[in-house]
Amino acid sequence: MAAKPVSVLITGANRGLGLEMVRQMLAGPFPLGKLFACCRDPDGPRAEALRTLAKKHPNIISIICLDAADLCSIKQCAKQVGSLVGTGGLNLLINNAGFLAKGILQETNAEDMQKSFNTNVMGPMNMIKEFLPHLRTAAKASTMQGMSSCKSAVVTISSQMGSMESVKWSYSFFPAVSYRISKAGVNILTLCAAEELKKDEILFSLLHPGWVRTDMGGEEGDIDAPESVQGMLGVMASLTEKQNGAFLNYKGETIPW
Ligand code: NAP
Repeated sequence: MAAKPVSVLITGANRGLGLEMVRQMLAGPFPLGKLFACCRDPDGPRAEALRTLAKKHPNIISIICLDAADLCSIKQCAKQVGSLVGTGGLNLLINNAGFLAKGILQETNAEDMQKSFNTNVMGPMNMIKEFLPHLRTAAKASTMQGMSSCKSAVVTISSQMGSMESVKWSYSFFPAVSYRISKAGVNILTLCAAEELKKDEILFSLLHPGWVRTDMGGEEGDIDAPESVQGMLGVMASLTEKQNGAFLNYKGETIPW
């Protein structure tokens, strides 16, 4: 019997890792049904590559307007996606959109903190809350045993910079205080969600993409987006209830909190 098509939503899908996820999702590893590629400005110049992809795959990709830092926008997006997925629900939500301010503690201001917190913590939290009905529908509609990304899952792209243990060896070359705090925040948010919603058989995991050469990662990164995304999609496809609440890198290795 052919595997059931999976519906996937990606935030920040217009460039960087999000766009590369859209590209690679089209070729596997999931039997893709619908792909909701969300971005802040679907008609703007930064979404041109995404629009070109969507034109080539009109039956799979829907571009949906979403500002992850704006609850009204998330609610609208959830309504729109709900009407498109219907009784199948949403199988996989990928919280990828992120904001980085690089400053040391003495330079970090309220604006950096608020923007980091709104995008990197409140964004994933509101996405989880507003998409919960669709994730529950997907879990109930699935005949699969246990947990998996093909059934019902939320994968949040965090960062090793949110790891407490990383501060000693990485602070001197990458302080990014507000970013680190926000990624540590989304890590514990994910653990809480994993605990609260395990009864609904919705899987929650955190992935660190590596240091990747994107607009955010800069030219000095260790790897390019295709390598990172290939690794992350492989990890996503392999997730089971054993990884509920796990913090893994793109190679599937556990990152210390
Ligand atoms: P990027 O190239 O700078 O892309 C960031 C993406 O997030 C863009 O699509 C951007 O959209 C979107 N975004 C930012 N704020 C948003 C908001 N409020 N609502 C919706 N979309 C928003 O960064 P990236 O390297 O692909 O990063 C993707 C994720 O990986 C982030 O969560 C980041 O923290 C994480 N990460 C990256 C690295 C790395 O080395 N690159 C390392 C660790 C973790 P616009 O075009 O509208 O700005």
